[in-house]
Amino acid sequence: MRLREQVAVVTGAASGIGREIARAFAREGARVAVADLDRNAAEKAAAQLVAEGRQATPVIMDVTDEAQVEAGIARVLDTFGRMDILVSNAGIQRVCPLETLSFEDWRHILAVHLDGAFLCTRAALRQMYRQGGGSILYMGSVHSKEASRLKAPYVTAKHGLIGLAKTVAKEGAPHGVRANVICPGFVRTPLVERQIPEQAHALGVSEEAVVRDIMLRETVDGEFTTMKDVAEAALFLVSFESRALTGQSLVVSHGWFMQ
Ligand code: NAD
Repeated sequence: MRLREQVAVVTGAASGIGREIARAFAREGARVAVADLDRNAAEKAAAQLVAEGRQATPVIMDVTDEAQVEAGIARVLDTFGRMDILVSNAGIQRVCPLETLSFEDWRHILAVHLDGAFLCTRAALRQMYRQGGGSILYMGSVHSKEASRLKAPYVTAKHGLIGLAKTVAKEGAPHGVRANVICPGFVRTPLVERQIPEQAHALGVSEEAVVRDIMLRETVDGEFTTMKDVAEAALFLVSFESRALTGQSLVVSHGWFMQ
């Protein structure tokens, strides 16, 4: 087991990609904090892991709220006594052209992705520095490297996470902390299922056209990336044994974006 005895906090772990990462980490022996805003879904996801014989606990927190993040990480430390891995994954999307995007939506999307990543990182680093090491993973996107129309705050935030990861890689290195980013292509989670009709409406095309011509056109094989693909990449990055792999961003997108 690649993560035996390690403690992992995964934000946004009540659904989609975060939930699959929590499952993969728990299977590899980690004790997992299922951190999410959605109390019911987080409790259900953690209970399911426990029912499968894994170690997991729900931690209810809004990653944009400083006090809730501090309290949430404190609860993880009370429960499990340490923290070795942070996956900053909680995220939202809104499809809207720039000229009609409200300032409130702009700020909220940036807050979930960037304030959330900062607040969770700061709380994690304090503990990881005390322990002498750790691994932080940010959920980027192909939109950390490329732009798409109608997603300005999301694209901006996802590019920003690469800057944060590189900085954490430098500041964290003397303390044994690594930081990396995963950049998935489109994955069929609730976040993506919601934006298919939204994009079809905004662009005046069919939902099939959104999937075929917008989401998958640039892939090498017309396939969606799966939650399992992303979870396996996450496992690879956090369990890598030396400090050689830090400050990097790994694209997992069926070749949609090649670097
Ligand atoms: P999802 O909607 O299935 O899950 C997101 C989770 O984040 C939900 O459980 C939600 O309750 C939680 N969340 C939202 N705001 C929160 C907050 N303020 N505090 C705490 N939790 C909060 O979405 P997903 O597709 O699994 O997305 C997970 C991450 O992966 C996001 O960062 C997203 O940008 C990224 N991503 C997704 C795709 C994709 O195609 N699905 C592609 C690239 C990157």
